[in-house]
Amino acid sequence: MLLIPCPNCGPRDETEFHYGGQAHVPYPENPNELSDTEWSRYLFYRENPKGTFAERWVHSTGCRQWFNMLRDTVSYDIQAVYPMGTPRPDRSPRVTPESGTASTAPDSTTTGTAGPSTSTTSILTTTAPEGATK
Ligand SMILES: [Zn+2]
Repeated sequence: MLLIPCPNCGPRDETEFHYGGQAHVPYPENPNELSDTEWSRYLFYRENPKGTFAERWVHSTGCRQWFNMLRDTVSYDIQAVYPMGTPRPDRSPRVTPESGTASTAPDSTTTGTAGPSTSTTSILTTTAPEGATK
């Protein structure tokens, strides 16, 4: 169970929140000019990283406010909570490395310093093959 630090209410149980999917998915600038493929990419294509992921949450049974959160999808460590509309913060090493949970991952990515910075700036799928959408 996650203990999620709501920016307005403080730490609360995960059950008070609802997940809102990936954060920082920009609305298309010219939506009328998008093809069906481009629309589908905007609507449905999301990152699925192993590691730090920026996502949206709403404190639905509390202040009912949306916020963004950086969470490690392997260790479930919450690395940052920040308001909607603000850019994704850099990964800061101020998070305590051990939370006592999810110690089943034997790989070396969760120990010590953060691994080599894998640049995730160009998210839009340049690697998706054109004919692989079916
Ligand atoms: Zn709240």
